Parts: sequence; C-alpha cells; structure tokens
Amino acid sequence: NAVDQALVGDLTGGPSPKQRRALAKIITLLESTRLDHRKRADDVLNTLLPKTGKSFRLGISGIPGVGKSTLIETLGLYLIEKGHRVAVLAIDPSSSLSGGSILGDKTRMERLSVLENAFIRPSPSSGTLGGVAEKTREALLVAEAAGFDVVIVETVGVGQSEITVAGMTDMFVLLQLPNAGDDLQAIKKGVMEIADLIVINKVDIDPDAAMRAQLFITSSLRLLGFQGNPDHASHPAEHWHPIVMRLSALQGNGVPELWEKIQQFEALQKANGEFDARRKKQSGSWMWDRIDAGLKNAFANNVAVQELLPSLSAAVNQGTIAPSVAARRLLEAMGHEFF
Ligand code: GDP
Repeated sequence: NAVDQALVGDLTGGPSPKQRRALAKIITLLESTRLDHRKRADDVLNTLLPKTGKSFRLGISGIPGVGKSTLIETLGLYLIEKGHRVAVLAIDPSSSLSGGSILGDKTRMERLSVLENAFIRPSPSSGTLGGVAEKTREALLVAEAAGFDVVIVETVGVGQSEITVAGMTDMFVLLQLPNAGDDLQAIKKGVMEIADLIVINKVDIDPDAAMRAQLFITSSLRLLGFQGNPDHASHPAEHWHPIVMRLSALQGNGVPELWEKIQQFEALQKANGEFDARRKKQSGSWMWDRIDAGLKNAFANNVAVQELLPSLSAAVNQGTIAPSVAARRLLEAMGHEFF
C-alpha cells in the first residue's frame, strides 16, 4: 500500500513535523477496529519491526494526584535537554470500564508536548484492559521505530493495569506520597513486588514525612523479602534491589539522581542478561495473550456456539448439566475435539 509506505518513510526519516504526523497516523491505524485497517497495520508493524527494540521502556504508576504527569514532564524535559527523544504513552484502565478517564482530560505536560523530541499519546480509549494494553504495546514499537529512545508508559495505580505496564516495560517505577508511611496505603503487596524502584514525590511539602516514608517503605520491602533475598524471582539479590528515593517532581530536585539510578538499573540488567530475558518473556506472553483473546473472540463470534449458548447456560444455571460438560459441548461446536 503506497499510502502506508509513505507513512513508514516519514516515520523513519528522522525528527520532523512529518514524522510526528506519521507516528500519530500509524497509531490511529493500529487502534482502528476495521479489519482492513488491522491488515494494513500488521504490514506496517512487520515492516517496522527491525527498527524497534532500541529504546529504554520505563513504566510509571501511582494513584491519581501523586504527580505522575508532573514527574514525566520534568524528567522528559531533562532528558530532551540531554539529547534524548522521549515518547509518553498511557494506559487508562478507567476508559475501558466507563468511557471516562482518570488520567485526565486536562491538558497535561504542556511544556513537554510542544517539543519536537517529545511525543505524547493518550490512552487508547476502547476495549478491555487487554485490548488497550495491546494497542499500547504496538504504539511503543512504532515510537521506537521513529527513534524515540526513551518510552514512558504511564498508568494509574489501580489493580491490574500496573501489572500490565510492568509486563511491557524494562523497569517499573511506583510513585508514592510522603504520607505513605503513616497510613499503610503504601503496602499494596502485589505492586511492591513488581516495583523496581519506588519514588516518594512531593518532598518539598513535608521533607520529614518523606524521610519517614522512605525508611518505612525500605524496611517494609526488607520485611517482604524484596531486598537482599537471592531467592526472589524477579529481583535476585546479585542483580538489583528495589530502592526507595525521594524527590520533588515540581521543583525538579532529585530528578537527575532518579535518572542516574534508572541508568544503573539498565546497565546492570544488560550486564547480567536480565534485560534480554525480561523482553523475551514479555514477547512470549504478548503472543499468548493475543492468542487467548483471539480464541475467545472466535468462540464468541461462532454461529454454532451462539445457537447453543443460551440453552446450555440455562441448563448449567438449573443444575441439569455439569458446567464442564456444557463447556466441552460449546467448545466442540467450534469443530474441534476438546479434553
Ligand atoms: P497525576 O494525577 O499523578 O498525574 O498528578 P499530577 O502530576 O497531575 O499532580 C497532581 C498535583 O500535585 C498537581 O497540582 C501538581 O502540581 C502537584 N505536584 C506534583 N508533584 C509535586 C511536587 O513534587 N511537589 C508539590 N508541592 N506538588 C506537586
């Protein structure tokens, strides 16, 4: 397709307004639900694939108001000053539930968004979390092909979306408020487990509280066994211990130190093979996620299944057929044997 070839040319032709337009257009193509768009998008992705993978992928999460956009803007400006190119993508779990948006309709990151070396894209707005995540993963690849060497994926601190973002990035950073230590909100165990680094933001408001929070979270991590525990699968002790830092995203102090830690993490992960291993694992699970979703979709759209489903569901409800037997009948309606 000549139109798409031109888009790919613009995208890979170096920084320019044309490139930004091509990037936005290709992402829109990826997000389309039309089958012909999907086919074109697949071709574009495959063409771009050799140019992907060269960025550092940074996940950032935290509750609304913790300072995610402020930090991303400050960090982004700092990185662009240092010669980097920064793409910011978002996964808003609320959009798939309510059509609304937690990450905000407010104009975010105003200073960053006007720079040629920045690209900011809001969350895909439709579908399940899995669907939104898939679009974001693809958008990430396209941003990499355009030469963005730092890609930040942002999400709000609710439930599964954090796991999803950690599952598509090289490093996952969790933002906390200085009062975290006082009220235990910090210790969402599942999230602590996946955080490579914890940032206590807004130190300028209450430096003492921030210090207490740092001590508290550090000792909680130790209690949970995430520091210095060689058996912990995601953080073997010889590799990286999750650390806790304090900073002010608003004033910018602590941001260069944060970047330094991020680079230390990257260097360490690359040196010990974890970096590649994590990416490979992520690619594999992405493929299987897609297969799961595709199979479910095929099931839901199958005519024979649709015909059988109401009566078998009713029978399961009434207890006249075992759920496992009903499931097998439905699966077999798709034309395969299932055990
Ligand atoms: P998000 O919802 O996590 O993206 O949070 P925002 O970045 O929108 O920040 C929420 C509010 O906290 C805004 O009014 C910011 O100006 C403020 N804020 C963010 N970081 C800091 C900080 O380091 N210090 C102070 N005092 N305020 C901050």
